[in-house]
Amino acid sequence: MTPFVLHHPGSLAEAVALGGQSATAQQGASVRFLAGGTTLLDLMKLEVEQPAQVVQLRRLGLDRIEPTPDGGLAVGALVSNSALAHDPVVRQRYAVLSEALLSGASVQLRNMATTGGNLLQRTRCVYFRDTAMACNKRVPGSGCAALGGYHRNLAVLGTSEHCIASNPSDMNVALMALDAVVHVTGRQGERAIPIRAFHLLPGATPHLETVLAPGDLVTHVSLPPLPPGTRSLYLKLRDRASYEFALASCAVVLTPDADRIGRVAIALGGVGTIPWRVPQAERLLAGQQPTPSALQAAAAAALQGARGHGENDFKIELARRCIVHALATACAGLPGAAP
Ligand SMILES: Cc1cc2nc3c(=O)[nH]c(=O)nc-3n(C[C@H](O)[C@H](O)[C@H](O)COP(=O)(O)OP(=O)(O)OC[C@H]3O[C@@H](n4cnc5c(N)ncnc54)[C@H](O)[C@@H]3O)c2cc1C
Ligand code: SF4
Repeated sequence: MTPFVLHHPGSLAEAVALGGQSATAQQGASVRFLAGGTTLLDLMKLEVEQPAQVVQLRRLGLDRIEPTPDGGLAVGALVSNSALAHDPVVRQRYAVLSEALLSGASVQLRNMATTGGNLLQRTRCVYFRDTAMACNKRVPGSGCAALGGYHRNLAVLGTSEHCIASNPSDMNVALMALDAVVHVTGRQGERAIPIRAFHLLPGATPHLETVLAPGDLVTHVSLPPLPPGTRSLYLKLRDRASYEFALASCAVVLTPDADRIGRVAIALGGVGTIPWRVPQAERLLAGQQPTPSALQAAAAAALQGARGHGENDFKIELARRCIVHALATACAGLPGAAP
């Protein structure tokens, strides 16, 4: 590991000023915020990340879950994944988020991992983590070893000729279906960024993963209130039942309208370069009865444009089935739903 200076700021302003000394908040940043460390320290040991300064956030507070005036919830960036998953309000009103968090990693990791760190966790592409290999995300312009190499766990949606890395987070998929908002404090003050606008597609610049600028610190994530009667579900498909990243996953947040599907939000994990929302599928389902053919049509629409690279072709069919199963489970009891 490359030596670094460790800071323990006692205020947000101090942390932002320290972070602002870096030329970038993206890959290769010379100053990094440290939360649970379960992503960052691994990458530093592998020398994928070599910050000269590390800014520990633990003294900033930011560890509370609080109601918002509009009836939603504000989740501090330092709230652990365990605390968030087991929060009674989250379990009752945002069950999809609790289920997504509990499907990730292990108890020990969830106790350390934080909301802000999970939001910003990095890809599990093996070449990104191996400094001997070509990787445009780690070293812009060096190539992409995954395209002709091992890519079974990588993305089929939102890819480019420069990078096909998948976003590995389960939490992000639930946040996407919940229309969460990411709150950031930076050198320009405070910003509220809808999660749909937070992560960037790889395009020709896969090293740029989010809209964050130097000094930008995620303070909290807010969840809007959900209409009464809303149901939700997170379904994760993976190689083994625990301690494994998603091959495909689906978050559904659905509000029935009388005997039909009213509003529905669907987000996918494991298959996209960013947490992936599928509005075309949502539009097909709104106002419909959840018949098997309606669910199949929505799942097909969700995967339109998906492209595998050989080893990961199976993910397209897997994701389709994941969506159908998640929707069928979430729609149980509505007229037209499969028994
Ligand atoms: C063995 C293993 C298995 C795992 N399995 C899963 C899984 O199945 N599903 C899953 O979703 N995840 C999984 N994870 C990933 C885990 O969820 C993440 O490592 C964790 O959520 C990161 O949170 P952290 O607080 O430890 O982040 P850190 O490592 O502290 O930080 C991660 C990144 O976020 C930045 N950062 C952190 N907080 C802030 C902030 N407030 N503002 C701005 N920047 C910030 C850091 O600078 C760093 O770049 C696994 C990890 C491991 C090691
Ligand atoms: S898929 Fe992306 S992260 Fe993986 S080697 Fe290619 S450029 Fe790097």
